[in-house]
Amino acid sequence: MSKQTHAFQAEVAQLLHLVTHSLYSNQEIFLRELISNASDACDKLRFEALNNNGLYEDAPDLQVRLSFDKAAKTLTITDNGIGMTAQEAIDHLGTIAKSGTKDFMSKLSGDQKSDAQLIGQFGVGFYSGFIVAEKITVETRRAGAAAAEGVRWISGGTGDFEVETITRAERGTSVILHLREEALEYANTWKLKEIVGKYSDHISLPILMEKEEWQDGELIDPNDENGGRKPGGMVKTGEWETINKASALWTRPKKDITDEQYADFYKQISRDFEAPLTWTHNRVEGSTEYTQLLYIPSKAPQDLWNRDKKAGIKLYVKRVFIMDEAEALMPSYLRFVKGVVDSADLPLNVSRELLQESRDVKAIREGCTKRVLSMLEDLAKHDKAPEASAEVTDVLSEEDKAKLGQYTKFYAEFGAVLKEGLGEDFGNKDRLSKLLRFASTTSDTVSVSFADYKARMKEGQDAIYYITADTLAAAKNSPQLEVFKKKGIEVLLMTDRVDEWALNFVHEFDGTPLQSVAKGAFDLGKLQDEEEKKAAEDAAETFKPVLAKLKEALKDKAEDVRVTSRLVDSPACLVVTDDGMSMQLARMLKQAGQ
Ligand code: ADP
Ligand code: MG
Repeated sequence: MSKQTHAFQAEVAQLLHLVTHSLYSNQEIFLRELISNASDACDKLRFEALNNNGLYEDAPDLQVRLSFDKAAKTLTITDNGIGMTAQEAIDHLGTIAKSGTKDFMSKLSGDQKSDAQLIGQFGVGFYSGFIVAEKITVETRRAGAAAAEGVRWISGGTGDFEVETITRAERGTSVILHLREEALEYANTWKLKEIVGKYSDHISLPILMEKEEWQDGELIDPNDENGGRKPGGMVKTGEWETINKASALWTRPKKDITDEQYADFYKQISRDFEAPLTWTHNRVEGSTEYTQLLYIPSKAPQDLWNRDKKAGIKLYVKRVFIMDEAEALMPSYLRFVKGVVDSADLPLNVSRELLQESRDVKAIREGCTKRVLSMLEDLAKHDKAPEASAEVTDVLSEEDKAKLGQYTKFYAEFGAVLKEGLGEDFGNKDRLSKLLRFASTTSDTVSVSFADYKARMKEGQDAIYYITADTLAAAKNSPQLEVFKKKGIEVLLMTDRVDEWALNFVHEFDGTPLQSVAKGAFDLGKLQDEEEKKAAEDAAETFKPVLAKLKEALKDKAEDVRVTSRLVDSPACLVVTDDGMSMQLARMLKQAGQ
């Protein structure tokens, strides 16, 4: 194929503009992205080669090589992975296939730091090369294709790119960055080693660089004014050395891994710039053997509410990468958890379909779920310092001190997703109910658990009262709360959109029923004294004729009109029948067009 010019897809052009104009604060991520692509390419080769060993050709050792040429101002990342055909290069390096991209574009704020974070999350990996390069040349050959079917792709990172056929003996891909004047610092061994150490140390693939050694200057001409010496300097030796640890972090013993290494690994697999909130790392033995390294992020990603949002778990089998986003390994309500599961039992050629049916996978999912819940329970338990604190806080261990306030932080980000579990995971419903937190008429912060509420219940109170509303202000000012305020009874204020739905699955907590204050003609029971009951009955009698008229007048709009004891100041309020759809749910359905 002779040289062809192709235009970038519109979104790519837009993205490139952004990448080159606003990413200076986080330049060095380009290397992480390109190394991660190289590593993905090697994983893909390993995977395809399971059924076709010939793809290894004569180079079975998968690796990435970094090299630079100061004079030519280039930095090259070469892998011997799967490579690309011409069509693949056109498709993969000219478009963004991901459906979330438009969404991504609309979220850009113009603020460098947060935009850079978004770019990380949405993974516009390859294009980040243009942060440091004014031109990128990609030379590649698909594993298994003939040497004459190599491809060269060139672009200056503006409107278009060129593609032509070349001859390339080696399988795999070289990404050649023609460095911008202001990015020449990356043509330096120390700099590259530093960045690899920071972001790519645990890539399970060796990353190699050519060794350099010091060479003294030579005596050339004794009459020369510089003393006749050519200055000394570092020269390449032709020998390659591995510059990363190249051992999968999760396979190392816990005691040999520092918190910083755990956090760095998290950043690598999650593309998050922030450290994780917490993690758990275990080897599980027994009938199903696997290693789990699971993280809870500090911040919810932008697309948490996307229904197609995939799980954050990478599946490995005996250290061989199998797939990303292995949704079968984690229930959907824990989709925010990131991490790695490495199984010793699954076959290497396991497919997504097979995963759904495997008993081992079911055991792994249950094990992972339990671990995450224990991790959350532990955070919840240590969220607040014990009562009567001053001295007690002093005796808290450093580890426990670090956990103060962490659960509140977690809950603010992911509490609403967790609630989906009430309807999804009946086996863990009780554990989940204990993890719920709400605001209440005595607490503006979302921090009251059902257990806290129960401990504060009034004598004679036999239900946990709650109200649902769109906002905290609306909940707090609801006329339905008047009688509770008067009697000093706490009411939970629920303002998440999922609350209404979630509560369909929780009818009681630890033997105490949950009761909406907006439903039916509820009975305050023992909380109401004889006099109040009498007054209510009298009023019902007195107002009978009025009620009859109102009922007649509202007959198409209201099912019933009653005298109530729930109001103190307001003249009237709307309630739904006990078995009726709540107003909140009705509003939600209406919004959804039903
Ligand atoms: P992502 O890695 O998230 O898919 P990128 O922008 O980093 O997105 O890469 C886009 C696509 O280009 C990859 O999915 C892959 O198909 C292809 N690609 C990029 N780099 C390589 C490489 N070194 N070898 C083979 N294919 C590559
Ligand atoms: Mg990538």
